[in-house]
Amino acid sequence: MMVQYLILKAKAGDCLLFYRMGDFFELFFDDARIAAATLDIALTSRGEHDGKPIPMCGVPVQAAEGYLARLIKAGHRVAIAEQTESPEEARARGGAKTLVNRDIIRFVTAGTLTEDSLLDSWASNILVALTVVGDVVGIAAADISTGYFELINVGQNAVEAELARLAAREIVVPAGFKNLPLGSIQRPQTEFDSLAGEEMLKRLFMLPSTNPIGALTRAELSAASGLLKYLEHVGQGSMPFLKLPLRREAQDFLLIDQATRDSLEINSSLKGGRSGTLLAEVDRTITGAGARQLAADLAAPLMDKSVIHARLSLVQWLHEAPLLRETIRTELRQLPDIARALGRVVAGRGSPRDLGQIRDGLNGARTLRERLGALNNRPLLLDQLLPKLDGHGALVDLLARALVAAPPTDIGQGGYIAEGYDAALDSLRLLGRDGRLAISQMEARYRESTGIAALKIRHNAVLGYFVEVPAKYGDALLAPGTGFTHRQTMAGAVRFNSPELHEEAVRITQASGHALAAEAAHLEDLIHHILSRRDAISESADALARIDVAAALAERAAEGGWCRPSFSDLAEINIEGGRHPVVESALSKSGDRFIANDCTLAPDRRLWLVSGPNMGGKSTFLRQNALIIVLAQAGSYVPATSARLGIVDRLFSRVGASDNLARGRSTFMVEMVETAAILAQATPRSFVILDEVGRGTSTYDGLAIAWAVVEGIHETNRCRCLFATHYHELTRLADSLDALSLHHVRAKEYKGDLVLLHELAEGAADRSYGIAVAKLAGLPPAVIARAQSVLTKLEKGRAETGGLAAGLDDLPLFSAALNSAEARVDVLREKLNGLDIDALSPRAALDLLYELKRTA
Ligand code: ADP
Repeated sequence: MMVQYLILKAKAGDCLLFYRMGDFFELFFDDARIAAATLDIALTSRGEHDGKPIPMCGVPVQAAEGYLARLIKAGHRVAIAEQTESPEEARARGGAKTLVNRDIIRFVTAGTLTEDSLLDSWASNILVALTVVGDVVGIAAADISTGYFELINVGQNAVEAELARLAAREIVVPAGFKNLPLGSIQRPQTEFDSLAGEEMLKRLFMLPSTNPIGALTRAELSAASGLLKYLEHVGQGSMPFLKLPLRREAQDFLLIDQATRDSLEINSSLKGGRSGTLLAEVDRTITGAGARQLAADLAAPLMDKSVIHARLSLVQWLHEAPLLRETIRTELRQLPDIARALGRVVAGRGSPRDLGQIRDGLNGARTLRERLGALNNRPLLLDQLLPKLDGHGALVDLLARALVAAPPTDIGQGGYIAEGYDAALDSLRLLGRDGRLAISQMEARYRESTGIAALKIRHNAVLGYFVEVPAKYGDALLAPGTGFTHRQTMAGAVRFNSPELHEEAVRITQASGHALAAEAAHLEDLIHHILSRRDAISESADALARIDVAAALAERAAEGGWCRPSFSDLAEINIEGGRHPVVESALSKSGDRFIANDCTLAPDRRLWLVSGPNMGGKSTFLRQNALIIVLAQAGSYVPATSARLGIVDRLFSRVGASDNLARGRSTFMVEMVETAAILAQATPRSFVILDEVGRGTSTYDGLAIAWAVVEGIHETNRCRCLFATHYHELTRLADSLDALSLHHVRAKEYKGDLVLLHELAEGAADRSYGIAVAKLAGLPPAVIARAQSVLTKLEKGRAETGGLAAGLDDLPLFSAALNSAEARVDVLREKLNGLDIDALSPRAALDLLYELKRTA
């Protein structure tokens, strides 16, 4: 057995091996140690290997899913080795002591789950494969629990944003690949090959060429091969459900990198998890599929105005019809998760319950279609969705006739095929029922003939049917001539057989065996019918999810008094009465009111410098405008009285000192890395919010950096930007930068106490109120008084010397410095110093010369 185990373990590699032995999955050696520690189960031992006891632990097969879930959550992968023949087959093959054949039938990994109990119903489960060809990065992404599949090509500088959008559970990369964001689970695979990718896609979708998918690049094909090979390996040859891949372009989406997503808490909060996020705040979806779609929408706001408008028009239609919306939502509430049920069926793990769910879901889709189809003035998107809800009539009818109302998950007991579907099955069942009736009559007869009222005929899995009497009557039945033969003596009872009982039992077993086989054959046939319509079923599921999302957004808009945003071609942001949805609802729980604020950025007034006291509402204001853009481009109403926006191509947020010590970088370093990314990547179509840049270092350094960053953004990036700062000195930039304007959050002192008004106003803040905020926070009076006198002294010094910013007015202009010949020479020098001349081919050297010439 150990030889067999070790061979399988070698095949399992770094996965924990679940080795099936009867009713248990057993783990051995280090696997056992890891699993026992992770699962908190007993570590025992069994036999010896190299003279040492072999550590072992096990989980019951019946309860395996729960244990699997915990191992996967803890970051492990599991290989499942099943018995591939029965003990009888093994004996027939090689005699009494023959070992049962076993093989790994599948790998369970975080990115390739389909089981309900291992997945969150409201979250997608994305597997990504990624590879670099030249300077293009190909990404293939799939959620095999629903069949979602996409291919995308991105430049190196958009990789992080794309991975952040996809939020993959697992990333497959070529062996030796580096530079992925830390923290993602990476699976090195050797098999990335564009030719193989093309072949695999053609075979999988039975296409003569990959043209119907789009003009795929080598990078995409190669990524596809990595993904498909990994799935083949994980499923041990059986392919999960994949729809024809969607060909995406990076420019389809508003790019948002991971740092920005984190700081805006769009789909997950800084603490991790969903609560407190934008997603949780807007999510009013009814179905799991709807929740997954909404999460995907918010993670990937769009760039195409017409698609955004199509979504918004459907939301508006449902917003204006509260009764209809309620009806739809009531109907959605009944619907099972068709997409996930289908995913399991295609993966070969579908249960009768899954089939029942597909039947009920498709039936509900048909009802919804009839209801919505009868209405007038339907928006365009709905007209596109409706036909997708229909066309399953024959399949639904078949499933309705074939299956019982609530089919079980387990097929072992049968009972899922409905009465009346198959006459032969019905008569087999009747036979079984007659047999059971005959046995209960037999029991009555035996009681009478033996005079033992406590006599029972019982059944268990080991013995089958038997006669049981309390121990004190045992001897009476043991006597010869009674017709009973002894089978088992228990503590309080004795068990017997009788020829008559045996005969009846055989009849029942045969009938139920045949009935089970007949049911299984029907199940297979039904699955076949479903598989032949899988693409259409999955389209229905997607259409239902889209309707759920639109109704949910309409619901949320109605709850919060939100408005439909409009879009212009100008690089502007024109928000009146904007609110931060998460802060607003937190405040309303404690009975406080959120103060709405306007934000009006336009090409000639694109940079707002926002100052004012701590706790005054600066970062809330910055974030709320970013969130409104995310919502609007995702096709949602927004928390404002009106909003007109020019489409944003990249969104950047550098707000607050997000602690990234886990990655081994200091807070200031993180701040600078993120600021560098913004300066390198923001375009005139981008929107940037920056909060307190430069806070993490000394005052002089900080001011100098903040100053240069504002200039850089204004002169070079020319993007729309809100910049919050406590450096009063920065307000001088208003003189030299013509698209920069000054704003502050208002505060006033009332009877010696600070009152924060959370209201934006034009102009610079008149003072910093730092000490007043400290007082508000409850610093002891003695400390406050002392701080006040230190401040007076410092301010006196400032007045005399010109203070921190003395001399700044004499600075040469920013742009001049950037374009100076000196800067260019530096670039050339850097390139030349970094060269390994011996390693260059003549051709590469020539290319390089051209490049250097261009730089000069
Ligand atoms: P700052 O960035 O200026 O230090 P914050 O934006 O963090 O201030 O806001 C501090 C607190 O003030 C928030 O947690 C919130 O409770 C409250 N607040 C912020 N903006 C508003 C607003 N517009 N209306 C009402 N309360 C607000």
